[in-house]
Amino acid sequence: MKSGLPPPPAATSASTLRSMQANRGRNTSVELSLRRALHAKGLRFRIHRQAIPGLRCEPDILFPTPRVAVFVDGCWWHGCPEHWSPPNRNREWWTRKILLNTERDRRHDEILTAAGWCVVRIWEHQPVDEAVEHVQRVICDRTAGGGR
Ligand SMILES: [Zn+2]
Repeated sequence: MKSGLPPPPAATSASTLRSMQANRGRNTSVELSLRRALHAKGLRFRIHRQAIPGLRCEPDILFPTPRVAVFVDGCWWHGCPEHWSPPNRNREWWTRKILLNTERDRRHDEILTAAGWCVVRIWEHQPVDEAVEHVQRVICDRTAGGGR
């Protein structure tokens, strides 16, 4: 899918680069700690699978039966309201890029919700125990409430 975004700026400041690299991709340390903690609670799940076949959207952690999809969102790439601010260099490009990312996230949330999934988004800055509690509560609700 073309977003209409011009190619990324070649020159990027060292601090921007650090933020980007710290938050890139899968299996971030936050995600790993969350997985370990959920596993320790006796929960079983799958990782990095398409929740909806053909939709290019792979939740980080999936609970197929209660249909709970968990995303661990990096503060940089997902435009955390507390921690993201546009860098001085290439400010416009980054602002647009992160806006497109968050729009895509919301779109995926809507598609998953419409398909009967419950979407849980965890910020990478959230304490792991808080995240575990959140996920457990959602699973519990879904299991007890007959999948509303
Ligand atoms: Zn944050």
